[in-house]
Amino acid sequence: MKRDLKPETLMMSHGYRPEWSEGAVKCPIFQTSTFAFRTAEEGKAFFEVAYGLREKGAKERTGLIYSRLNNPDMEILEERLKLWDKAEACAVFESGMSAISTALFEFLRPGDLLLCSNPLYGGTSHFVHHVLTKFGIEVLGFSPGASREELLQIVEASGKKDRLGMIYIETPANPTNDLVDIAVCRSVANVFGRNGRQVLVAVDNTYMGPIWQHPLRHGADLVLYSATKYIGGHSDVIAGACLGPTELISRVKTLRTFLGNMIAPHTGWLLLRSLETLKLRMEKQSENAQVIARRLARHPKVAKVHYLGLLTPEDGEAYEIYRRQCSSPGAMVSFEVKGGEKEAFSFLNHLKIVKLAVSLGSTESLAQHPATMTHAGVGHAEKIAFGISDALIRLSVGVEHVEDLWWDLEQALDKIPEHREPAPEVMLSPNYV
Ligand SMILES: *Cc1c(COP(=O)(O)O)cnc(C)c1O
Repeated sequence: MKRDLKPETLMMSHGYRPEWSEGAVKCPIFQTSTFAFRTAEEGKAFFEVAYGLREKGAKERTGLIYSRLNNPDMEILEERLKLWDKAEACAVFESGMSAISTALFEFLRPGDLLLCSNPLYGGTSHFVHHVLTKFGIEVLGFSPGASREELLQIVEASGKKDRLGMIYIETPANPTNDLVDIAVCRSVANVFGRNGRQVLVAVDNTYMGPIWQHPLRHGADLVLYSATKYIGGHSDVIAGACLGPTELISRVKTLRTFLGNMIAPHTGWLLLRSLETLKLRMEKQSENAQVIARRLARHPKVAKVHYLGLLTPEDGEAYEIYRRQCSSPGAMVSFEVKGGEKEAFSFLNHLKIVKLAVSLGSTESLAQHPATMTHAGVGHAEKIAFGISDALIRLSVGVEHVEDLWWDLEQALDKIPEHREPAPEVMLSPNYV
C-alpha cells in the first residue's frame, strides 16, 4: 500500500495478519507461557537474537520464545502504540509504575542526580524520594514555571552537575495543569551531557497522550504512560508503556525481562481493543471538558478553574507552551470551590453520575479531592507551593452526554453550603506597632 495511513486507521490491523490465526479477524489472546520451536536450530537462533549474542539478520523476525520475553499480544500492542508518538520502539508493562520504575532503574546509577518537575504523580514521587534515594541517587525538584536559567542554577548549586543523569517531567502537572517546557529541559540536559553520556529527558505523558502531546517531537528521549488511563480508557485494566529510540528501549526491555514486569497476554489484548477507539474517546472527552470548564468558570460556587482551554495570551509563558506543545486542552479539569475541605466534600458527596474515585482518562467521569486523596502524601508546605488547596477538585471528564454531566455537576455545586469568608483580621503594619 502506497498510502501513508493514519494511526486511527492502523489501530484495527497494524502488526497482525488473519492468516496467522485461522483467519481470525481479531488478534486472539495468546494465553500461553511458552512457544514450540520447529527445530532445535530454530530455538538456538531465537535465543542468540534474544540474548544479544549476535545482530538480527535483515529479514529475520524475532522468534517467539517464552511470554516473559515476548508474546504476540505484547508485541502487536507495542507496534500499534509506537504509531501515535512516531517512536522507534516501545516496551509495555503490567502497570504505569513498572514502566516508570524500570526506565529510571535502567538509566540512573548510584551517585547520579535526578531533576524532577513538581508536583509528581504520587506513586512516582514515592519511588524517586524513597526508593531511588536508597540506591544513592539524589533527587531535586523544580516548579513548572522555572526558567532555563533557574534550572541551570539548580543543577550548578547542587554540586553534582557532572552527575546529572536525567530530567524527569510531568506536563501538564497533575492535578494543577501547570505546564513544563520540554524543549527547555532538552536544552538544559544538553548543557550537562559529558564524555559521551547523554543526560536523558523523560516525560510522563499520561495526562495528554498519546493523542494530544508528543514529547519526542519536542526533544524528549523517553515517553512514559500509565496505560491504565486514556489508553486503556475503561477503568478495567492496569498497564504501562515506555517509548523512545530503539537503542534506549532495548535496554528497558532487557531489564523488563529480568524484573519480569511485562504485560500479560490478556492485558495486552484488552489494550489492543481499547486502542481502536482511543481517538474517538479522547476527542469526545475533550469536547465535553471544554463545555464543562467554561460553565464551571461562571458558576457562583466556583472560585477558580485550572484548564488548558481557559488559558489566554494574558497567561504569558503558560499560554505559549500550551500552544507549542499540546494539540488539545484535554479532558482534565481542576477547580477550586469557594471555601475549603468542607465545601469540596459536600460537592463530592452529592454527585450522582460522576463517580467519586481516583484515576482518570476513562469513559466515565471521575472526581476526587487531591489534597486528601491522590496527593495525601505531599507535605503541607509543598501542597501550598504546588497549589493543591483544600478547595481543589480534580475532574476527569468522560464520554457521557454533556448535558447530563452538567446537570450533575450543577446540582452538586448548588448544594454546597453558603461559604462566608472569615472577617479579615485587622493587621497592623509594622510601621504602626
Ligand atoms: C496513574 C498514573 C501513574 C501510575 O500508573 P499505574 O498504571 O497506576 O501504575 C503514573 N503517572 C501518572 C501521571 C498517572 O496518572
